[in-house]
Amino acid sequence: MPIGLFGGSFDPVHLGHLNLAKSAIDLIGLEQVRFIPLNLPAHREASLTRLEDRLKMLHSALRPPFFLDETEINRGGVSYTVETLQSFRDEYPTRSLCLLLGKDSFDQLGSWRSYDKLLSIVNIVVAGRPNSHNGIPAHLKPTFESALSKSVTSLHSKRCGVLYFLEAPLMDVSSTKIRCNVLKGESLMGLVPEEVAYFIEQKNLYQL
Ligand code: ATP
Repeated sequence: MPIGLFGGSFDPVHLGHLNLAKSAIDLIGLEQVRFIPLNLPAHREASLTRLEDRLKMLHSALRPPFFLDETEINRGGVSYTVETLQSFRDEYPTRSLCLLLGKDSFDQLGSWRSYDKLLSIVNIVVAGRPNSHNGIPAHLKPTFESALSKSVTSLHSKRCGVLYFLEAPLMDVSSTKIRCNVLKGESLMGLVPEEVAYFIEQKNLYQL
């Protein structure tokens, strides 16, 4: 069975992340999903919450078959997905590996280091997000269009090279929205797991 690899800042982890991972388990038949918090972002200017707190929230939110994976933290420095994927490929030479991406991240892929090499290492599974357009954006078509498949079984039979759009229910939640809600004193109910809401409150995270 394929392994799902799911990277992000997880600042904080929320139910949109968990729903995507669950849909991937249910609809694709992944064996597990590794949540891989990034160490230092390549793009983002805004600073992240302390690593220790991001890890504690993730740890409290994840139960098997979801696992916390510290590959990028242990490598240190700026986190480049291509390096992370190559290290998983070295560890699992023959397994199908599926990189999970929200559609907003997929649409930005052209700015990622060696984005045109990703499909030579893994399969890519894209989940929709509210307000994102369907399909492959024009600038990514030359790299990705020929890899597009509508067959889940190709994610099992091929260890890399397949692009698949997951028909998962969309959840209108983002870490940005959660940080805004905290600032405005609004509830986090239905947006993050209870343990995460409790941790944010106890630690006064995301306050000015
Ligand atoms: P921020 O609002 O700070 O940009 P985010 O909510 O997009 O954060 P990240 O940790 O940056 O979360 O994202 C990790 C991955 O999860 C990305 O591929 C992103 O597209 C995806 N993702 C985040 N929220 C959702 C959601 N609600 N549905 C589907 N995918 C999501």
